[in-house]
Formats: sequence, C-alpha cells, structure tokens
Amino acid sequence: MAVSEPDCLFCKIAAGKVPADIVREGERTLAFRDINPQAPVHVLIIPRDHYPTAAAAGAAGEGLLDEIAREAHEIAEAGGVAEGGYRLVFNTGADAGQTVFHLHGHVLGGRGLEWPPG
Ligand code: C5P
Repeated sequence: MAVSEPDCLFCKIAAGKVPADIVREGERTLAFRDINPQAPVHVLIIPRDHYPTAAAAGAAGEGLLDEIAREAHEIAEAGGVAEGGYRLVFNTGADAGQTVFHLHGHVLGGRGLEWPPG
C-alpha cells in the first residue's frame, strides 16, 4: 500500500501542501472542517497514509477505523453534539457519493439528520 499518492488531494492536505481548517492532528490521522459543510458540525477525519476507501483501510488491519471512530466521538464532544447525536459516514464508492478516493470519515451533527440518507 502506497503511503502517499502524488495526485491525491487529501494526501496534499495531510502533507500541508493544500490548506485546510484543521481541528485536530494525530500521529496517524488529521481532522479538518469540510469545505462545503452539510451540518453545523461537519469535520472530515483522514489517515495520513493513503487508503482509497474504508474497506481498504479495514483490510490493512492496522486499527485505523477504530481510531477514526474514537476521534469522531471526541470531535463530536468538542462540538457539543455528542449527547444529541451525530453521524459518522464513510462514503465508499462512486454510487455512494464518494468523490475523494482517500479514506475520510464525515462527522456530521448539530441538526436533525434524516434517515434514509439521500
Ligand atoms: O464522501 P465524499 O468523497 O463525497 O466527500 C468529500 C468531501 O471532501 C466533500 O464533503 C467535500 O466538501 C470535501 N472537501 C473538502 N476540502 C477540499 C475538497 C473537498 O473539505 N479541498
């Protein structure tokens, strides 16, 4: 698995080559506010290493998805939405709406979120 992909936007954000509104920096992960927020709290959590999807990161067996889930809760707590509820979403594949093929967990909260999602 490549650690970084030269043409990947989120690899560039992880490397500090593209600016982002960073809210949290971990050793293996980075969290930043979504540039086009869909809720009052909308933060993306990415691994610093390049995995195209959550499935790829899960298959690597390095505990990254666990780490992202823990960080999502801490971000929700910091944003004041943990108690009311928030959503942690991994769009996986084009039909699911994935547009950036570098794993990212969306943390969404601060408004009523409908189900099923659109
Ligand atoms: O799950 P999906 O791949 O569609 O999500 C990509 C997300 O990355 C979008 O919500 C988009 O607004 C966000 N984005 C960003 N900063 C960029 C480019 C995209 O926050 N520079």
